[in-house]
Amino acid sequence: MASIQAAVMTAPGHIEMREVELGPIGGGELLLKIEGTGICGSDKHMYAGHMGLPFPIIPGHELVGTIEELGPKAADAMAIVGGPIREGDRITTTPSSTVCGRCHYCLHMPQRPTLCSGRYVHGFVSSDVAPAPRGGFSQYMHLTERSWIFKIPDELSGDRAVLTEPAAVATRAVERALGPGIPHIGEGLGMDQSVLVLGAGPIGQLVIAVLSHIGTDLIIASDLSQSRLEMAGHMGAHHVVGAEGPLEERLDTVQNLTGGIGPDIVIETAGVPVVFKESLDFVRRGGIVVEVGHFTDPGGVDIHPNVVCFKDLDIRGMWAYPAMQFKTALSFLKNSRAPLDRFITHRLPLEETEKGIELTGSEGSMKVVVEP
Ligand SMILES: [Zn+2]
Ligand SMILES: [Zn+2]
Repeated sequence: MASIQAAVMTAPGHIEMREVELGPIGGGELLLKIEGTGICGSDKHMYAGHMGLPFPIIPGHELVGTIEELGPKAADAMAIVGGPIREGDRITTTPSSTVCGRCHYCLHMPQRPTLCSGRYVHGFVSSDVAPAPRGGFSQYMHLTERSWIFKIPDELSGDRAVLTEPAAVATRAVERALGPGIPHIGEGLGMDQSVLVLGAGPIGQLVIAVLSHIGTDLIIASDLSQSRLEMAGHMGAHHVVGAEGPLEERLDTVQNLTGGIGPDIVIETAGVPVVFKESLDFVRRGGIVVEVGHFTDPGGVDIHPNVVCFKDLDIRGMWAYPAMQFKTALSFLKNSRAPLDRFITHRLPLEETEKGIELTGSEGSMKVVVEP
């Protein structure tokens, strides 16, 4: 049995390099050699202690790797998308396992697989529980039965492929704004609708690129950072609005850009409570607000529920994405004309995972990738 290096978060605010003994790969399992793992905002929240989790954890769920060892029964024990897999193939995997098929949500709402209470999620599990490592900040990762495996198309570069997980979030956020199925009734997202994206971090940027990819006519981006707004322009935003300054002024600006009505759709990706409140202020009457940013809980904000009634609003949340969203994400990454290659601002060796987490979200950084 070989021992390998992994970055272990032993407690919030503390990461150390540890030697981890690789266990044997079972018949329905595989060993993945990690090529690159992106640092997610949620890794930063985990580091900041915003998530009650069973430490120690080997985090990392935005990963690309090659199959080093494939159990003979993996094809039966895993969900494999994109054709049969072999050793040496480049793949990615969703953080979540397949659903249990038995819980209340699986039985009543199989169309919402992220509500299943019988899934496990790698990158968030204790590294004291075998097998380890089950996170991407590691040289190798042990994928167990019930993993979702997506083959990476040959023409997709590693730099784009490592964005599959955040692109799954972004494509689902956009799909959450789709209308009830009849394009001409004027509800929901359509080509000639206007969308305001609040927050231009990695998820906001990808949301803009997805909106642009599907041909949205008017995309407005808002953020505090000038460099992020500049990048939003490259990703396909038609107008950018600085998020500093009084709300009244920003409301005026956005109203002027949308014929005095307000955007049809607002997608909140900042994860800042007051920005959710502002989403309700910005959106037009009869519009849709999609809340993406608050995957963890940074606190609350005062809102006047009257605005939800007065505007006759649809507010749509999202808890991650169904695993098959990875297929949509890979298709988007393969075909998008946005300069997604500008996304990776820092590449660090595994030993500098902690520094990467500190860099994430700072001015001048977009996606930080750990390359073991
Ligand atoms: Zn992520
Ligand atoms: Zn279930």
